[in-house]
Amino acid sequence: MRVLLVEDDEMIGRSLKQALEGAGWSADWVRDGELAQSALGDGGYTCVLLDLGLPRQDGTDVLRRARERGDATPVLVLTARDGLDDRINSLDLGADDYLLKPFEFRELLARMRAVVRRRDGAAHSLVGSAALQLDLTTREVLVNGEREALTAREFALLHALLERPGAILSREQLENRIYGWGEEVTSNAIDVLIHGMRRKLGAESIRNVRGLGWRVAA
Ligand code: CA
Repeated sequence: MRVLLVEDDEMIGRSLKQALEGAGWSADWVRDGELAQSALGDGGYTCVLLDLGLPRQDGTDVLRRARERGDATPVLVLTARDGLDDRINSLDLGADDYLLKPFEFRELLARMRAVVRRRDGAAHSLVGSAALQLDLTTREVLVNGEREALTAREFALLHALLERPGAILSREQLENRIYGWGEEVTSNAIDVLIHGMRRKLGAESIRNVRGLGWRVAA
């Protein structure tokens, strides 16, 4: 799963990016509001971590414009500002949650899981269909109740497909959801991933629709 990290502080940004990648996220890091705006326009993010005090365009403007465009990507505001008005303002503008700096990384991960889950419409940590469910906390898949471990990329791919069971996602859409900037993507990377997942989850778990892409059963 991909996260857009918007943070102008070099030290915080670098350590967050590293920690997120260690936790299995693909993290794209931008350091100002305008770059955040254009990265969001490209789409494909599971969630956004947004600092408010940013060069070139304030975090609240980034948030306001994204929501005005109809972009519903979950946004978690990270801010050192202790002003109540800022927090209320960002929530009213469409932020899903906020976290005051400094914070514990474990709490950030838990809040990220919570905003993603709410976007998926799930009150608990399981998303998907009865036959195929993802556990957002453990990153395991449940196939007819049996738990299987997934790699970070397998998890990201299945999460993308399970958001809308039955809908077809193209190779480009899947690559966009799995790989961050600068990551090498071979032409058959998605095929290799899906081949491996069918061996774990059953041949019928992910279906190919010739020339269009892949889907899971509705
Ligand atoms: Ca800042």
